[in-house]
Amino acid sequence: MELFGNRDSDKTKYNKALKVLPHVHCAVGAVLRPDLPPTDPSGCFLCGHMFGDLYLNAGLFCLEQLNFQAAESLLIAARKLMPYSAEAAANLGATFRLQGKFDEALSLYDEALRLRPAFENYSRARDVILDEMAKRQPPTWDSPQCVLGVRPDPNFSGLLSAVAPTKANSQKQLTQTKREWKLRWQGDCFLACNSTTVENKSDSLKGSTQISETLCVSFDGKALTVSGRPQTMDGLFEVADFMAAVAGSLMWNMVRVKGGEEFRRLFQMCQLRRSLDNKL
Ligand SMILES: [Zn+2]
Repeated sequence: MELFGNRDSDKTKYNKALKVLPHVHCAVGAVLRPDLPPTDPSGCFLCGHMFGDLYLNAGLFCLEQLNFQAAESLLIAARKLMPYSAEAAANLGATFRLQGKFDEALSLYDEALRLRPAFENYSRARDVILDEMAKRQPPTWDSPQCVLGVRPDPNFSGLLSAVAPTKANSQKQLTQTKREWKLRWQGDCFLACNSTTVENKSDSLKGSTQISETLCVSFDGKALTVSGRPQTMDGLFEVADFMAAVAGSLMWNMVRVKGGEEFRRLFQMCQLRRSLDNKL
């Protein structure tokens, strides 16, 4: 595991400081001090009192470097060493949030707010998490939130099994075709993000990140749906192309397309192009 990023002087500083700690309480410490047995930080009053802030600051440094693995390890230890610290809870919450682990992030910000009631940065971060969670909720086919969708026609039996294998390689197909959309699996959901939606780490630590034009495209085994409508024709085309990739071997006449004639035509065009590509 790489402990700290490229800021060499800070990296050296934290490495040196962590290396001389009396106990190993996290994975980062275990790498630095293989000679010491790892022990549970819970209830270690010595480290909590003397070195809690070191764990906290080193964790925050790793988080700023987007080294989530190391940040999580250090901040989980910081939480156990200083269960009274709102900052430890909030920073661990931010670490989870930036990894898309929203449930964990939310409960940590709840805890941070319990420890430091009505602190604006924490409540704002909490609102952002709730907002991101809401956007991730897959809309159902019949709901007004579902504006674009593709799903296998139930009249064709056995089609769902044809979709399953495409799940594994859809990432590759999408990488080839994506232009301005970032697409990735998140559990059973596809998230399609506009490329302008870049996580701003300093902002997000303050809890005021911007999420512009994020679409939640979900595949629940029955339907592919999207929670919002792209503002541009290019965006619409990308989503159609994305859905065509996920639908994979399904032919356009085997699926139901929701989203109006314009989207249906785009989707069918993308599917046709893909089936031709596959034959070549
Ligand atoms: Zn200790």
